[in-house]
Amino acid sequence: MIGGYDMLNGKVAVVTGGTRGIGFATVKKFLENGAKVILLGSRKESVDKAISELKGINENYEVDGAWPNLSNLSSVEEAFKKINEKYGKIDILVNNAGMSSMDKIYDYKEEDFKKIMDLNVNAVFNCSRAVVSYMKENGGGVILNTSSMVSIYGQPSGCGYPASKFAVNGLTKSLARELGRDNIRVNAVAPGVTLTDMMKDVPDSVIEPIIKSIPLGRIGKPEDIANAFLFLASDMASYITGVVLSVDGAARS
Ligand code: NAD
Repeated sequence: MIGGYDMLNGKVAVVTGGTRGIGFATVKKFLENGAKVILLGSRKESVDKAISELKGINENYEVDGAWPNLSNLSSVEEAFKKINEKYGKIDILVNNAGMSSMDKIYDYKEEDFKKIMDLNVNAVFNCSRAVVSYMKENGGGVILNTSSMVSIYGQPSGCGYPASKFAVNGLTKSLARELGRDNIRVNAVAPGVTLTDMMKDVPDSVIEPIIKSIPLGRIGKPEDIANAFLFLASDMASYITGVVLSVDGAARS
């Protein structure tokens, strides 16, 4: 045991958007639980920085990285092929990379709507498309997606963001039904407001009323979401598929 509960001993996991925030916390949690983790980021520099931070915590962590263009299927396929060749399998994929939007519909630019769909939806399709054959050949696997509480309620601005997360839920439920017979489970976690870089530009005047409305009385931590991913990735969740698990302190927007 490397330092956690050993729930993912011997598993190989790929986590997109693993350089910071929820993705980084998930990578760390998986490493603590005995997985080998390949974290994907948008740039070599941020990937290297995240890896050296993790190695600083525990030099025995087996952590690697890559920076394919997630919105381009060929680029993703090439990266996953290399990972599968190097590690012999891919047991777990966490589709976590994402971006947000607060743009009002009156000013929403067409290219910004396309950009958010490219990362939040197309990348989930591309990575899932690239990994399923390896999982099937290996007897099964787990695909986990980062959705959002706004995939349930929508939000009053930045409509591209909730639209993208509704699509993530659609992919989750549909792929769960399509891939169950191949022993590939597909689930999503829908975080509430979680303290990461994504939230750093949101003013206190917006955050404070949100906290007041959360029954558990606090904002989420990246580790809260990582814990849910750990459970869903592990064999403890072996009969759970097609679920969107809210991790939001019962927040209602
Ligand atoms: P973050 O901004 O801290 O991290 C985003 C991650 O995505 C980073 O690792 C970044 O490198 C990666 N990324 C961004 N653009 C990319 C690109 N073009 N190509 C590849 N990687 C890219 O955000 P976070 O809050 O940790 O968000 C992670 C996920 O959680 C997202 O899918 C987000 O929608 C979701 N989420 C966040 C919150 C929240 O309150 N923070 C709430 C609900 C859902």
